[in-house]
Amino acid sequence: MRTATLACVHFVLLLQLLISSGCQSPKPNKKLTPNVRTPEVEQSLVTVPLPPGGGGAPTVESPPSKPAPATPVPPVPTSEPVASLSVSPPVSPTTPSLLSQSSAASLPPFIGLTSPLERDRFSAGTWQSLNRWLSTRHWPAAEIVSTHSQSTLVNVTIPTGTFSLQLGTQRAYWNGTLVQLGFESRVVSRDVLLHSLDVEKHLNPLATGGAAPWSGPRIIVVDPGHGGAQPGSRSIAGNLLEKDLTLDWALRLRALLEGQGWEVHLTRTNDFYMPLAERVDFSEHSGAALFISLHFNSSFPNQEAHGIETYTTTPQGMNSHVTREYADDPTRPFPNNSYDESSFPLAVRIHQSLIALSGSADRGVRHARFMDVLRWQNRPALLVEGGFLSNPVEALKIAAPAYRQKLAVAIAEGLR
Ligand SMILES: [Zn+2]
Repeated sequence: MRTATLACVHFVLLLQLLISSGCQSPKPNKKLTPNVRTPEVEQSLVTVPLPPGGGGAPTVESPPSKPAPATPVPPVPTSEPVASLSVSPPVSPTTPSLLSQSSAASLPPFIGLTSPLERDRFSAGTWQSLNRWLSTRHWPAAEIVSTHSQSTLVNVTIPTGTFSLQLGTQRAYWNGTLVQLGFESRVVSRDVLLHSLDVEKHLNPLATGGAAPWSGPRIIVVDPGHGGAQPGSRSIAGNLLEKDLTLDWALRLRALLEGQGWEVHLTRTNDFYMPLAERVDFSEHSGAALFISLHFNSSFPNQEAHGIETYTTTPQGMNSHVTREYADDPTRPFPNNSYDESSFPLAVRIHQSLIALSGSADRGVRHARFMDVLRWQNRPALLVEGGFLSNPVEALKIAAPAYRQKLAVAIAEGLR
């Protein structure tokens, strides 16, 4: 009965993954004036095909209920009743790699694989056994936290924090904060597999230092997105422009960071447009150790999307989570890729702070390659999308100065 239920549950999971990788159909609203768009405007509704073996994953999903930043167990992405709950007992660190017997009994042999041929590919070195990675470090084996109708959640508790995986998807959580992996996690022969690039670019940096405070020189460039003739998105609340909102946010952040001993350089302090390449040069001339670009999002005419996203440059070998019209070439490296391992944990830290202090939905730490302002930077660099100006509720929140102060405080706290 239980086996039959689980088989059914995972068949449904696969079906849902296949269905959800199709097109999103935003609802048009003819009453509203279309948003102003520039090549720089971020939009998060592009579905990106994964490379062979990568499967398909939707980039727009309903965010799970808001996690507390320090909570080790991430939110369950559905309110469906628990079909089966199996918590594995502690396993000796030296136990061979497979999940503990009780956990393994709850897992189907394959998750996230669409054909037997595809399964065969995972014997290649591109994929790593999660439990082998853990056992070589003498850390406890992965543990199934819950199996719901739409997801199986596996926890990995290591000295620097808790890393959780929603099996068969690109969703992972660091201490409850959503992190979008480059590839779907897999279950093969009842062992959890992660792509070696996810191990190298995501798991290893977090295992080394967690989402640790910034320890480098306190010299930062804060970049208010857009400006001048490039207004960015238009808010559906009060016709406010993204360029004005990002400038206000940046000025608030500068005051806070200076109070914390940072040397802060703003790419603009009034309404003019600095070309993206010049923003990179500006960072160079400022001697900045760190770069952060501030934006607000829009999915107009779709008004549903909401929440905060934090971006870093896509590591070489991965597909981006958002591409826009850019031909996203995973083989092409950029200067900023030299800082992958330092940008990512910092992005997680700042994102964690933003979600906790703003109360907004968590759309995760993500990667994009098209962002000129990030990819040419010779320093850790990240870009924050502080909410959707196309969502009526979020647009109203962002229109309030007190909320923009909250967003500034959140980033300053992340940089404490
Ligand atoms: Zn923007």
